[in-house]
Amino acid sequence: MKYLLLVLVVGVVLAVMSARRRSAVDGRTPRGAARPRRGGAPQAEPMLACAHCGVHLPREDAVQDAGGRAYCGPAHRLAGPR
Ligand SMILES: [Zn+2]
Repeated sequence: MKYLLLVLVVGVVLAVMSARRRSAVDGRTPRGAARPRRGGAPQAEPMLACAHCGVHLPREDAVQDAGGRAYCGPAHRLAGPR
């Protein structure tokens, strides 16, 4: 009977611990997901069209030539505007 009680207590403690861990993880996930949004209003990244093939790509990914024209990659930058 003593051991049964001990097992019961250990089981309850483990159940409480796993529930706390689960709620901590659950609490962390929405906060982590909201963090990028909290840094500022969601901004549309400026898109540029490749001067050669016309594909649109984020300005960060674009390759620009000396004239400031945007290209989707170095190959199209070398090929030049169409
Ligand atoms: Zn291109």
